[in-house]
Amino acid sequence: MNAKILETENVTVSFDGFKAINQLNFSMDVGELRVVIGPNGAGKTTFLDVITGKVKPTIGRVLFKGRNLRSFSEHQIARLGIGRKFQTPRVFLNLTPRENLEITNNRNKNIFSTLFGSSNATENNSVKGLLETIGLTSKADIPAALLSHGEKQRLEIGMLVAQSPDLLLVDEPVAGLTDEETYNVGELLLALAQSHSILVIEHDMEFVRQIARKVTVLHQGSVLCEGNFEEVQNDPRVIEVYLGKQQDL
Ligand code: ADP
Ligand code: MG
Repeated sequence: MNAKILETENVTVSFDGFKAINQLNFSMDVGELRVVIGPNGAGKTTFLDVITGKVKPTIGRVLFKGRNLRSFSEHQIARLGIGRKFQTPRVFLNLTPRENLEITNNRNKNIFSTLFGSSNATENNSVKGLLETIGLTSKADIPAALLSHGEKQRLEIGMLVAQSPDLLLVDEPVAGLTDEETYNVGELLLALAQSHSILVIEHDMEFVRQIARKVTVLHQGSVLCEGNFEEVQNDPRVIEVYLGKQQDL
């Protein structure tokens, strides 16, 4: 049996009696790239909120590498190694991509390197490598404000990776992107998946087809079904919950 990076056991999240997450049982392996889909209101964002500690389970447990997260604050959970990318990019627009990555890197540095400010060779290498990974080497030194929406998304994914999280949570990374930018973000996530555990929430089915290995379908706060892209796409229950929303499938 593979080691689990993330498990939820019978998790329910109630808002004034309404169950946004309802007895959810979910698990993913270390090193897995998992895509979670589901119609609007299925509980996808709440699912990420309960993993990151923004909301606590009303019932049930969330385990990260086997550890119950209940007693940890949102900040502590981030420090344990769960990084979250929100839907809209949060990069510093007046700084360059290189500076954005350096700042993120420095946050993790010890007091000495921060005090003396000397950017050592290792750090330069890791920023250089990250710029290559996210495909922004040629735009490394222009203000981030001049990047396209897709390039900003890739930069923010790079900033997330710079914090070396063990689990990356990525919420709808291609909403509003052109087809070409969507493809580039997909290729980036596939490259990162070689060395990271990644959970992606997404609506765009072409994108899901591009990156998916195992897909989990959420519906009314519970797992409706799981499988590879074809299995999920052809599952009558999935077709039914997406009925009337066929633009999503
Ligand atoms: P999704 O991201 O899949 O569209 P959400 O997790 O945002 O779904 O929401 C799931 C359900 O829970 C929705 O019906 C939403 O209205 C409800 N919900 C989410 N957050 C709250 C909250 N803080 N208070 C009350 N209801 C909420
Ligand atoms: Mg949502």
